[in-house]
Amino acid sequence: MHYTGTTFRPPYEAQSLLVQVTTGCSHNACTFCSMYRDVDFAVSPIEEVEADLIEAAQRVPYTQRIFLVNGDAFCLPFDQLERIAKKAHRCFPNLNSIGGYARIGNVASKTDEELSRLAKLGYKDFNIGLESGLDDVLSHMNKGYTTAEAKAQFDRLHEAGMPFNLNIINAAAGPERIEEHAAANAAIVNEARPTLVFVSPLHADPGTPWTQEVEAGVFEESTLRQYIEEEMAFLEGLELDGCTFYGLHVSNPIPVFGQLPADKDDMLAELREGMAEIPDAILDSHPNKGPEGRIWV
Ligand code: SF4
Repeated sequence: MHYTGTTFRPPYEAQSLLVQVTTGCSHNACTFCSMYRDVDFAVSPIEEVEADLIEAAQRVPYTQRIFLVNGDAFCLPFDQLERIAKKAHRCFPNLNSIGGYARIGNVASKTDEELSRLAKLGYKDFNIGLESGLDDVLSHMNKGYTTAEAKAQFDRLHEAGMPFNLNIINAAAGPERIEEHAAANAAIVNEARPTLVFVSPLHADPGTPWTQEVEAGVFEESTLRQYIEEEMAFLEGLELDGCTFYGLHVSNPIPVFGQLPADKDDMLAELREGMAEIPDAILDSHPNKGPEGRIWV
């Protein structure tokens, strides 16, 4: 199997077969992210991908889901995705679905007809890093799209019959805008109707422009209490039917997981009760700034 540099996947894809289709991320410019800064972006040769599928079929023939890596696998052109899916179905008779990381621009680059055909080939539940429902925050993050552009692509994915998962980053608007950010995030996620929403606190990577802003005092990080309060306000604002709320990333101070709407009240109670058990001194600290690093990992 070919894996170049560090390979990332969402925690809920732990059981999926990881197949590399690119090295790095085609965008590689979000101001908080250093995931792929050490590798140049390149599309894997199709022969290499097919060889990996054949090799994996010898080892894990009962694979039901494939998660394509790396940074934004859905950037591949339609023809390549079609060829990979057809080969994958030949290699794995029990294959149910294929996902990967996707950017809004990756979706925009496909025609309606292509999205629909990819959905029929089993592509679904891509992990899309929406991150925020506020345009100025998206701009600060250099995500490369606006909320209006993101919403348009969510509509196209639904039209094509391709469900998707969304990431939201808590407290990315800073401590003064906890309520505003939570409300905007809930509003756009309600409108988007994802299968799963994956929420985690802002954790700017060392050496990134965002971290330099924190170190220079330009951006004020939220306290642990504010992170949790924003997560609660976001969850409170979600009005979704049949969506998984996934707050189990290692950076989530209080792990919560459940289905919406059935488990909403229980998850809110878990967050409230979890916060009550954390000493005030820790709740009022800045998790990324402490002398011991992030206090919850
Ligand atoms: S957050 Fe995602 S899209 Fe942005 S640079 Fe990192 S891997 Fe690429």
